[in-house]
Amino acid sequence: MLFRLQNTLTRQKEAFAPLAPGRIGMYVCGVTVYDYCHVGHARVCVVFDVVQRTLRHLGYDLTYVRNFTDVDDKIIARANANGESVESLTERFIQAFYEDMDRLDCQRPDIEPRVTTHMGEIIDMVQQIVARGHGYVVASEPVPVNDQPMATSDVYFSVESFPTYGSLSRRVQEDNADGASERVSFDGRKKDQRDFALWKAAKPGEPWWPSPWGPGRPGWHIECSAMACKHLGGAFDIHGGGKDLVFPHHENEIAQAQAATGDAFAKHWMHNGFVTIDSEKMAKSTGNFFTIRDVLARFHPQVLRYFLLTAHYTHPLNFSDKAMDEAAKRVLNVYEKLAQADELLARQPTAATGKPPAVVEVAQAELMEALCDDFNTPRALAALSEPITVLTAALAKPKAAGNMECIAHVRGFIARAADLLGVFQYPAAQLSELIVELARDSMFPPGSEGLAWVLDKMRERDTARSDKNWARSDELRAELLQGGVEVRDTREGSMWRPRLAID
Ligand SMILES: [Zn+2]
Repeated sequence: MLFRLQNTLTRQKEAFAPLAPGRIGMYVCGVTVYDYCHVGHARVCVVFDVVQRTLRHLGYDLTYVRNFTDVDDKIIARANANGESVESLTERFIQAFYEDMDRLDCQRPDIEPRVTTHMGEIIDMVQQIVARGHGYVVASEPVPVNDQPMATSDVYFSVESFPTYGSLSRRVQEDNADGASERVSFDGRKKDQRDFALWKAAKPGEPWWPSPWGPGRPGWHIECSAMACKHLGGAFDIHGGGKDLVFPHHENEIAQAQAATGDAFAKHWMHNGFVTIDSEKMAKSTGNFFTIRDVLARFHPQVLRYFLLTAHYTHPLNFSDKAMDEAAKRVLNVYEKLAQADELLARQPTAATGKPPAVVEVAQAELMEALCDDFNTPRALAALSEPITVLTAALAKPKAAGNMECIAHVRGFIARAADLLGVFQYPAAQLSELIVELARDSMFPPGSEGLAWVLDKMRERDTARSDKNWARSDELRAELLQGGVEVRDTREGSMWRPRLAID
């Protein structure tokens, strides 16, 4: 199946054609590991996780590369402030990143290169850029190494030498801020204020690596050019990242790679929109953010993942408690239907054989069309609605002719959709736990009892039931119902849901 992709480079939605038939190389800019990730980082990872799941489902042999930036100004500053080494800081936050992404069910990329293990490739690329006349070396202050002053230099990219500079962002900023988004002051060492650092001379107290220009470390942008070319070749299919990276990071990546290799670099550029709070971009630098951990302390990871897929990836997405509560209700509702379906199917095994009901065929086609239309996840999620409605009706009358087959077909469809979207894949056996996590106090109607009360009552009821004290068990069921909670006894134990809040 062909798919169409918005390309930042051409500002058009294009039919995608891989450079080599059946194979796709994709590079996505990863995180700078010096702190916990926020919801904006979660969005990039979840978006490109759906991209990778879809491309593999379509049968492409995908190589997905996402880097870790494990040395830069912010990392060095934080490590120094903490009094710990750069390695221990970055290792800690790489592990924290994995914990967050595992909870969000993001499958790992095939290759996760780190800057510190690619110094050879980075230095080679800087040398090629200089050799081909696109970079220049400026002597810097000697740096003390083992108490001996050692000569060292900075290396800059010459923007003037590269006439197509600006083709991605369609802008040429006068002062090419290096790394962080802040503007840099006039630098007399540069020939042109647009030039940017490829290699930075070592400064006292900073980590450094030996190079042909003396001790130093890479500028920020060169790492992605070098690591993408190393793992995917000089020309590859898709490069992705957040919209904030278009300029200067991705513009500079293109210039560096093309200047060094003479090759085309990335063909399609995908950029996801910001997560906003009250319409302002979520960002570490402004303090306007929630970490993934903050959010997952209050909502199940499935709710956050679902929420992140409710907007098209190119659009902004506004984060609010109200939006998260809406997502929680929807996720809880769907899971509950799936649990009922699984329970029925376990009691009365029914294979999804024969022709699927029309609603499933239409939804299946719509799901794939939505994903192949520039990964339109809100449209893909909407494709689940009609089958869930039909499932709900069939669950109400499981004995009616054809309804068990219908339940089996819809269940199968949701499972296939879950493989692509990474939501609704948890088995019913885990539902009790999931509902407990999903049903936060905020979901209970005002004036009703909270989550802790419900859990106490449920525990008491479980004990009564194992003691075969049915009278007490019924009393507790009535008390819970009074408190707005509906109890259902299944083969997997007793389940409950906050009745009023989600109806
Ligand atoms: Zn990058």
